[in-house]
Amino acid sequence: METVEAVIKSHIRAHGPMDIGMFMGLALGHPKHGYYITRDPIGAAGDFTTAPEISQTFGEMITVCLIEAWMRAGQPDVHLVELGPGRGTLMADIMRCCKNAHAFFERMTLHLVETSPVLREAQKNKLSAHKPVFHDSIETLPVDAPLLIVANEFFDALPIRQRVMTERGWQERVVGLEGEKFVFGLKPMPPGHALQPVGTIVEFSPAREAVMAQLCARLQKQGGLMLAIDYGHAMPDAAGDTFQAVRKHQYCSPLEHVGHADLTSHVDFTNLANIAQAAGCNVHGPATQKNYLENLGIHTRLKALQSVNPDNTELAPGVMRLTDPDGMGGLFKVLGVSGKVSFCRLVPSGF
Ligand code: SAH
Repeated sequence: METVEAVIKSHIRAHGPMDIGMFMGLALGHPKHGYYITRDPIGAAGDFTTAPEISQTFGEMITVCLIEAWMRAGQPDVHLVELGPGRGTLMADIMRCCKNAHAFFERMTLHLVETSPVLREAQKNKLSAHKPVFHDSIETLPVDAPLLIVANEFFDALPIRQRVMTERGWQERVVGLEGEKFVFGLKPMPPGHALQPVGTIVEFSPAREAVMAQLCARLQKQGGLMLAIDYGHAMPDAAGDTFQAVRKHQYCSPLEHVGHADLTSHVDFTNLANIAQAAGCNVHGPATQKNYLENLGIHTRLKALQSVNPDNTELAPGVMRLTDPDGMGGLFKVLGVSGKVSFCRLVPSGF
């Protein structure tokens, strides 16, 4: 059977080494054999776990933020959008929380942007009562009403590229072959970037930038609020090489287990915030996940849950994991972006 590893190898043999963006895009998203296309990678039996899978309180706090923004905007008709919904757990938590908000249900339509047929099935199973409309990309999202968008661990899955400062100037990091083995290499790239100390690695992501710019243009035109949550940094300068692979909850080399390991990199939140600002949107944060969830009252919610479920011993560790300043609470950031006046009057809760 053809594999994505074989597809990438034959491309390299025919055309020479490829940039990391192309490698990542094929390994994760090849329409037939890509990592996300062929499996459900999330949870204990998979390769990694995510905040909504750890604790229901994550989705509950996101709901507070989104619904409050919608109420303040005058309760308009609205499209609720999730980018990369995984198993549908976050959206199912949001739907459960909104259960009694009848006005919201009357005015809301649900849109899920998902490329993986396997994960779409999981999302359908959890969310069919809410009649989700599926999209292959953000381009087909409706244009006729404000958007409430949530994206947890979505941007990190979009391809990045890397440039490396060498004695011969900036070069682009590429993936080639030595025999049957994938190896990193370098390829000259056009000049134009300020020189930096030799060895500096800068990541850039035309794919993330394009998605962000399109979403911000939509928010500015249609109104609405987006929450982008991911591991990443908000440092103005290079964070270095953050390209990483995870398989069965262990890090491995991005060049191993190609098509069978998740490939990601840290999200450059400064860059995303700059794109939002350039589009004329209001930018909130990025806040650490810890501060954001605590501002929204995650510990109060935990106490309430504990009082009705005194035997559930998983509630407190889940919240601790999401808010640990040395773990997910510090590494993950939340960026809010709002567009158009009705959604921009006040800072969304949590920031
Ligand atoms: N948000 C979920 C899942 C995160 S994993 C959670 O928090 O549990 C990344 C998700 O993005 C998966 O659902 C994956 O299939 C989806 N995805 C990856 N690349 C995508 C792309 N280019 N377009 C749409 N969805 C994508």
